[in-house]
Amino acid sequence: MSDKILIVEDELQLARFVELELSHEGYEVAKAADGRTGLEMAESGEYDLMLLDIMLPELNGLEVLRRLRRSSDMPVIMLTARDAVMDKVSGLDMGANDYMTKPFAIEELLARIRAVLRQTEPKEAPAEHVTEADILEIDGVVVDTARHTVTCSGEPVELTNREFMLLAALMKNRSIVMSREVLLEKVWGYDYMGETNVVDVYIRYLRSKIDDVFGIHLITTVRGVGYVIK
Ligand code: CA
Repeated sequence: MSDKILIVEDELQLARFVELELSHEGYEVAKAADGRTGLEMAESGEYDLMLLDIMLPELNGLEVLRRLRRSSDMPVIMLTARDAVMDKVSGLDMGANDYMTKPFAIEELLARIRAVLRQTEPKEAPAEHVTEADILEIDGVVVDTARHTVTCSGEPVELTNREFMLLAALMKNRSIVMSREVLLEKVWGYDYMGETNVVDVYIRYLRSKIDDVFGIHLITTVRGVGYVIK
């Protein structure tokens, strides 16, 4: 079961970037762009961790944290501006689990998220537990997004990380034709600057590893539009 992360950040580009990186890591992500909405969403109890900016419209991050802590011990990582020492201290005093100074390296953020989740995760759920949502199955092809494995008719299929993400994106959006641009954004990230035909190249890799080997027709080309798995 993937962890749900709430990003409360009014810098939309940063929020979007972090969202994409977290989704690539397998987290479920939701966003709020102001403190009031963020607090409401956090109080719903639906999320496993919140990334909380401090300078926010409506309610600032410290106030969001102060109010949230009346009723919830949900893990919170504060996002602070560079050198805002007072903010860090206040945030930790008010019960933030950790903080990151902006700008940050995404790898460091991911490491801190893992660490905070490890410290706070309830232990009763068995680690091997896999929900149905983690398993995508079409035409004998089974993609397990929790374990990052693919099988076809029970046989393992070895994919690179990028091939895996492309296949999972198509399978999650079954019957929806996905353009090269959308696939690029989902699999390569919004700031990808290369050629859009990289998608075609990776579709060829997938076909050579799945369609050709197992004699099935998994991925359909929709001429002039993109690709679909039906
Ligand atoms: Ca801000």
